[in-house]
Amino acid sequence: RAHLDRIGAVDGDVHAFLHVSDRAVDVAADIDRRRAAREELGPLAGVPLAIKDVLVTTDMPSTSGSKILEGYVSPFDATVVARSRAAGLVPLGKTNMDEFAMGSSTEHSAYGPTRNPWDLDRVPGGSGGGSAAAVAAFEAPLALGSDTGGSIRQPAHVTGTVGVKPTYGGVSRYGSIALASSLDQVGPVTRTVLDAGLLHDVIGGHDPNDATSIPDAWPSFAEAAREGARGDVLKGLRIGVVKELPDSGFQTGVAASFREALARMEAQGAQIVETSAPHFEYAVAAYYLILPAEASSNLAKFDSVRFGMRVDVPGGTVEDVMSVTRDAGFGPEVKRRIILGTYALSAGYYDAYYGSAQKVRTLIQRDFAEAFASVDVIATPSAPTTAFRIGEKIDDPLSMYLNDLTTIPANLAGVPGISVPSGLAAEDGLPVGIQFLAPAREDARLYRVGAALE
Ligand code: GLN
Repeated sequence: RAHLDRIGAVDGDVHAFLHVSDRAVDVAADIDRRRAAREELGPLAGVPLAIKDVLVTTDMPSTSGSKILEGYVSPFDATVVARSRAAGLVPLGKTNMDEFAMGSSTEHSAYGPTRNPWDLDRVPGGSGGGSAAAVAAFEAPLALGSDTGGSIRQPAHVTGTVGVKPTYGGVSRYGSIALASSLDQVGPVTRTVLDAGLLHDVIGGHDPNDATSIPDAWPSFAEAAREGARGDVLKGLRIGVVKELPDSGFQTGVAASFREALARMEAQGAQIVETSAPHFEYAVAAYYLILPAEASSNLAKFDSVRFGMRVDVPGGTVEDVMSVTRDAGFGPEVKRRIILGTYALSAGYYDAYYGSAQKVRTLIQRDFAEAFASVDVIATPSAPTTAFRIGEKIDDPLSMYLNDLTTIPANLAGVPGISVPSGLAAEDGLPVGIQFLAPAREDARLYRVGAALE
């Protein structure tokens, strides 16, 4: 009830939620009854959870921020939602996002932007700005997000929250409305590293419904966070700093907060090591071929027949109905990427664009493999700037795309990443995050390091 009251008080301004559950109080009461009956419940039983609208739910609509799915209710729950319910978490509502998770500001939502609780004139990042804003504004203690190129970590950076992109295959994508299937991962958005670990323990692990899900067992990430908080994990830890990431691309306060965080870790025994990742600078370019290619294919299913909206065209052909519906249902950023992706995949251009991008992807994977031969984690600022103003970048897609400069390499390589608050930028007083990256399957290392810094 406290969280619903808080939503009632602030969400008119913040607009983190697209839908607030009318069942939350009943579900919570049921957990209370089970607790009173001495049923054994997990550590998160009864804790409210905000859910990014990219994740399908049977009791609330799932729009992925798009008009084309307005009012759509799924016949099944996403695996991460089903696991959260089974653990007794209480779904509070569905959070706002850039349409089909395309964006870095939540301004591309078909339902209006979310505002950053730190400054309502600024963006909360994206695409999962709703989840991050809900957590930062104390509307929800925990949230689920999805990260294809940074959509968990970059919103965490600009809202002073913690965001984790797990190892590709570590958390099920079943029921996550696909943006780019080879890059998408679902993960936690929280106020502390321990909270993220607790939620990751609930949602993660093998799922036979996701063909790319890793079948092996995982350690407890909550336990890893607790180990980190106890200290001394930084002793002897080798933290790689990528020498090719140009200092000039980062806002002064972001670069300063990054250096201060490294100095704090060094004071606790960590070793800061210069490392090389020569292909990182091509990551954004490769991503904006691979992502639109996969997205244009994934979005072909919104054909006015099987899902969501249909615009009638009296006397029109099936093709007329499809094209009029897709024209009315998709926003400008989605159309831009469908066109880019279709072009990149078309006969005669496939090798030059999509094929080259896949080669760059392999080179980035090799950069990681070589770097991790001599460092335990890589550290970068989570994003180049603090929260920018609403409207500032909306007409400039390239500057919007550059927000994900440091987050995209992890998605291209499938490795895990965490963004942890590192302080506030001196010039504007806004939150800054530091990102840590680890080898695939070493997510626990990120929880240890993140909790040690906290
Ligand atoms: N901002 C990136 C994009 O627009 C990342 C999106 C995401 O991670 N879903 O594609």
